[in-house]
Amino acid sequence: MRCLALDIGGTKIASAIIENGVIEQRRQITTPQDDAATAMHQALAEIVRHYEGQFDAVAVASTGIINNGILTALNPKNLGGLADFPLKESIARHTDKPIGLLNDVQAAVCAEYAQQDKSAVKNFVFITVSTGVGGGIILDGQLSTGPNGVVGHIGHSLADPNGPLCGCGRRGCVEAVAAGRAIEAVSSQWNPPLSPKEVFEQFRKQDEKATALIRRSAAAIANLVADMVIGLDVQKVVIGGSVGLAEGYLPLVQAYLDEMPKFYRCPLERAVFGGDAGLIGAAYWVEEQLRQNLL
Ligand SMILES: [Zn+2]
Repeated sequence: MRCLALDIGGTKIASAIIENGVIEQRRQITTPQDDAATAMHQALAEIVRHYEGQFDAVAVASTGIINNGILTALNPKNLGGLADFPLKESIARHTDKPIGLLNDVQAAVCAEYAQQDKSAVKNFVFITVSTGVGGGIILDGQLSTGPNGVVGHIGHSLADPNGPLCGCGRRGCVEAVAAGRAIEAVSSQWNPPLSPKEVFEQFRKQDEKATALIRRSAAAIANLVADMVIGLDVQKVVIGGSVGLAEGYLPLVQAYLDEMPKFYRCPLERAVFGGDAGLIGAAYWVEEQLRQNLL
């Protein structure tokens, strides 16, 4: 089967034809910002037309929450003009092929899970630690999305009730403590101010202040992993994202996890896929949905 896959992010929209997990004809445009809804309708029309006649289904991975085909977010204001955008309906105007939509981290976990031994690993979590913190959850071998598409927003579980205010409106979320943006919120106040990348450079030189900041992030992620293991009987967690894959970060998460009682621990691995996990994972998921007659 050939899937037209789209990955809609806050800054870019990637598209490609995916067949058997192989990416062809990858293209990328900038996500519309001004008069965003009108421009998004036009951009989607142009993408579908460009690949016309070359696909059997459309698979969309998107930032935010996909609730019954409509794009929203924990804090819809963060989506600007794209809040409550009718994503599925907009694409369906230009094709009669089946369309499957899911959140981009939900898509990424499908790509990562396809690399696992599915007979051994039934409950599996992917955590991305990047600008924000997101997750995708596989239970009993199936992606969990939930009735409102919210499953996996584990970056908004609690890390510290007295922590910083999170973009979602709650105080002390994991994301507000562990994400790249959370690291930057602190290091940008230093003299001289440092970017997250520079904080990691200082961390690897064992600078005390940088180490404390990275440790705070890694400890929150280790606790998140432990919560997933004890709450969902997760057998393996894979970590990705620019912070998650930064040199020295995963060993630190592992060290915090190793300190916990054994019921909270599970094997941790680095993510295999980089930036194309959303495209590949969405295509895998749509193929699976079609096989099970769920789309
Ligand atoms: Zn939050």
